[in-house]
Amino acid sequence: MSESFSAALETAPWSLRETRPDAASAALHETLFCLGNGRIGVRGAHEEGACWPGTEQDAIYVNGFYDTEDIRYPENGYGLARTNQFIVSLPNAKAVHWWIDDEFFDPQTGRIEDYARTLHFDAGLLTRCFVWVSPRGRRVAVNSTRLVSFERQTVFALRYELRPLDGPAVVAVESFIDASSREIMGSDDPRVGSAHAANALEPVAMARSPGRTVLTQRTRRSGLVVVSAQQSQARCERQGMVASEDCGGPLSPGQRFSVRLEKGESLQLDKVVALVTSGATPVDELADQADTQLRLAVEAGFDRLCEEQRHFLDRFWREADVQIDGDPALQQGLRFNQLHLLQSVGRDGRSNVAAKGVTGSGYDGHYFWDTEIYVFPVMLYTQPAIARKLLEFRYHTLDAARARARDLAHPRGALYPWRTIAGEECSSYFPAGTAQVHINADIAYAVKSYWEVTGDDDFMLQHGAEMVFETARIWLGLGHFEVRKEAGLPARRFCIYTVTGPDEYTALVNNNFYTNAMARMHLAFAVEVFDWLARRHPATLAVLHDRITLVADEPPAWRDAAEHMYLPYDAALGVHPQDDSFTAKPAWADSGFDGARRPLLLHYHALVIYRHRVCKQADVVLALLLLGHEFGIEEKRRDFDYYEPLTTHDSSLSRCIFGIVASEVGYADKAYAYFADGARTDLDDHHGNTRHGVHTAAMAGAWLGVVAGFAGLRMRRSVAAFSPTLPPGWQRYAFKLRLGQAQLQVEVQAHGCRYRLVDGESLRLVHRGEELVLTRAEPERTMPL
Ligand code: BGC
Repeated sequence: MSESFSAALETAPWSLRETRPDAASAALHETLFCLGNGRIGVRGAHEEGACWPGTEQDAIYVNGFYDTEDIRYPENGYGLARTNQFIVSLPNAKAVHWWIDDEFFDPQTGRIEDYARTLHFDAGLLTRCFVWVSPRGRRVAVNSTRLVSFERQTVFALRYELRPLDGPAVVAVESFIDASSREIMGSDDPRVGSAHAANALEPVAMARSPGRTVLTQRTRRSGLVVVSAQQSQARCERQGMVASEDCGGPLSPGQRFSVRLEKGESLQLDKVVALVTSGATPVDELADQADTQLRLAVEAGFDRLCEEQRHFLDRFWREADVQIDGDPALQQGLRFNQLHLLQSVGRDGRSNVAAKGVTGSGYDGHYFWDTEIYVFPVMLYTQPAIARKLLEFRYHTLDAARARARDLAHPRGALYPWRTIAGEECSSYFPAGTAQVHINADIAYAVKSYWEVTGDDDFMLQHGAEMVFETARIWLGLGHFEVRKEAGLPARRFCIYTVTGPDEYTALVNNNFYTNAMARMHLAFAVEVFDWLARRHPATLAVLHDRITLVADEPPAWRDAAEHMYLPYDAALGVHPQDDSFTAKPAWADSGFDGARRPLLLHYHALVIYRHRVCKQADVVLALLLLGHEFGIEEKRRDFDYYEPLTTHDSSLSRCIFGIVASEVGYADKAYAYFADGARTDLDDHHGNTRHGVHTAAMAGAWLGVVAGFAGLRMRRSVAAFSPTLPPGWQRYAFKLRLGQAQLQVEVQAHGCRYRLVDGESLRLVHRGEELVLTRAEPERTMPL
């Protein structure tokens, strides 16, 4: 059983609880206790802000709200990405300060007692309570509850209560928006975001009305506008509503409430914030929209907002909960991850999932392939409507991908950026950025899975086909046919040179196995979609012909390239080499370098790493998972055995994949160890950088570890196939999947695996090669493991 890492954090099935404030882990806990709704992210820093020791990034973000900065290359080059987009830290509208009989609350003076802070996975709330004993000996009980509303995408709110415990006192509270800029230290770590994130806004306007403050700001370069509107109300038992007065200057505008309380009586402050941003909304409508959203939320009241939150999450957990009996720490890890994933995924088709969700400015808030290969499947099987929105984001940014393809000398087609917010390439280091052209195939893979699992033809007709064709076109420009005769190689083979695969410790290579295998899938899928349109939807095909000037010889060329795609195979070793030069390189392990200096990327020049046989993350092994039906079990086992000792897992995207493939090839102990490690990546801060934000791909990888790993889910031609196992020490695990119109529950115990049709008319599935059909009349089957 795995142990919880931080002594200040308790293990519980439905919550994360911190039992003492701890300066050393404050920055980490800001991330862990972050709340979000897919759009807004409010880091877990305390309401009272930086007076708590260890406070690092008291930040609020909006997914997709960014500013830009020039990327400066001292040595320039044609076609390099020119402009970085980075997520912006917004004014801190949750700020609260207070005084008791003129003593300012400062946790660094006096004493904090009976402290607890809890993230409630089921209620979607962050609660906190403690007693402050002031330097003069006054005792005050403090309670706060915070939420970022899932139902109202522009709203977050908090309730803040103060109760003097030892006699009457005058209590004053200021509820304000802290718009002062905060410095973020620049860093040499490429995983940390732009130093400008905290200072990217300039003031436009500030307006006040009773109880309300409205601040309008604009980003310095991208010209995006954000309106932060807060409404604060305070009441106490005896006197009812407490009158407010304006307080603070332009950088900290707010309301001040002051009241004399009897011993044991409390003052309750409710603060509601609406955050609206330009982008989808025209700038001149922002103020009205903020006003309306704020008014509606204030009218609903804090209690109602909490109820809505609960209902939303009840529905979510009914679909998405993964239950594990037999390991409380992993159970907590999985639920924590699932909640954070929900908090991270953009649901409007205009935003996506940043590598760090909305929990931090790490990786600048960029979207990567992490979305399609890791997070997307979780949404696909549990929240298909959100999965569609993630793909719509890619459709929405297709024009930028077309423009990028032209930058790279492709006369037609689209090349998606390796990392972006608004659609343009933001990767300033092309060997581990733009060169990862597999992003195109990753997106096509997600489209293919989406169509297979949901049967949503409408999506394919509106968006999917166009994306698949445009992205497939790039392969013919990137690759070429080789007809040179070489022993053991097919006479005519389609090769792709000078790309980087998923493994970022190997760059600019020829015939990266993953890239070629995924390109093959992509090209074949494009042909399949083309044939489907030709047969079933000729009118749509005609429209597409016009729109993207698809010419008749393209699909046959795609087919030809797919059929002749070269996949490296080393017969002597019996493995798939990661690329043409990989197996010939000297092994890192023999290099004499200090193996303990990790991650390697922070200790060695990239060229040193690239010329060795060492992997940052799953590459070939990931292809074996995604394209599993193309490879035999023995092949998979040999590849696993070969790559495992070469892989550092310096990327958090790696362990989960090795775990899933370990399950498949029969290495149960390894599968469990990889899973257990990955499932608490952030809770236990395995990479030492969770303070900069959670690792959404690893979180999703943990879900995949149960569903694709232990239960062995593989999707083949719209039919789900399972080969379940029960990890040692677990009594049971269970999860649900949405498959087309049906919902299936899978429950695995020592005596067997029970499949239950929860929703829908009927479902065909495969258990260890045997076909089963569940119907309303016979909704359940239990099969031996
Ligand atoms: C990994 C990439 C990943 C990125 C963002 C890097 O460390 O190597 O595969 O896309 O992090 O999570």
